[in-house]
Amino acid sequence: MVKSFKKIASVLAAATVLLSVIPATSFAHEVFYNPATSSTVAVRWQNLSVDGHMSKLDANGDYLSSPYTDNFSTAVSNWMSSSSAVVAYAVSFSTSKVDLSTPTQSSWDNSGIPYYAAAATIMYDKAGAQVMTYTQAYNSTKKMNYANVWCNPNKDYAGPSETDQSKTLTHEMGHVLGLGHPEAYNPIPTSTTSVMRQGSLGYSTPQSHEASDIRAMYGF
Ligand SMILES: [Zn+2]
Repeated sequence: MVKSFKKIASVLAAATVLLSVIPATSFAHEVFYNPATSSTVAVRWQNLSVDGHMSKLDANGDYLSSPYTDNFSTAVSNWMSSSSAVVAYAVSFSTSKVDLSTPTQSSWDNSGIPYYAAAATIMYDKAGAQVMTYTQAYNSTKKMNYANVWCNPNKDYAGPSETDQSKTLTHEMGHVLGLGHPEAYNPIPTSTTSVMRQGSLGYSTPQSHEASDIRAMYGF
């Protein structure tokens, strides 16, 4: 691929991935949570674009390949219509804050991301430090400035249906917005309706409580 991805080279070794990072205490779904200490690190985006009173997380999916190619616009519109404080917004690659892409197989294999993961989200703070684990979040500036979403180039792990693939991209954008996996809570929330649950079961679009969480996180 001619165009090298922003920051992609730094996605290495540290990848315990958001698979093992978890939700929150004060409200439902904060992404960076340490279950051993019940501690949360709140990371927030800075310098979001604004349209009216809506904050927009500028995203690009030009470098997604099959079978995810057609699902980017669905994922964006899912968050666009979620009535959350921060919504995903499709822009060109040159101005995006979030790039969703399919890396080469060798890049994926060398990243430390589990071979079977459908996708992984890697954020970067305003100082350029990778924020992918609780410890990295704890040591970061807490102010996020960029994110990569990588989708598994091996189609065997990409999800069997369009709905699954759409859910995967919507779910990863949920991580970018700051949401974690509800099933990792202790106690597990009684409501199991969540696009942030892992696996192919469950809901494929953001639920109202997830939009509420984002509003609470950003003070709306
Ligand atoms: Zn996840």
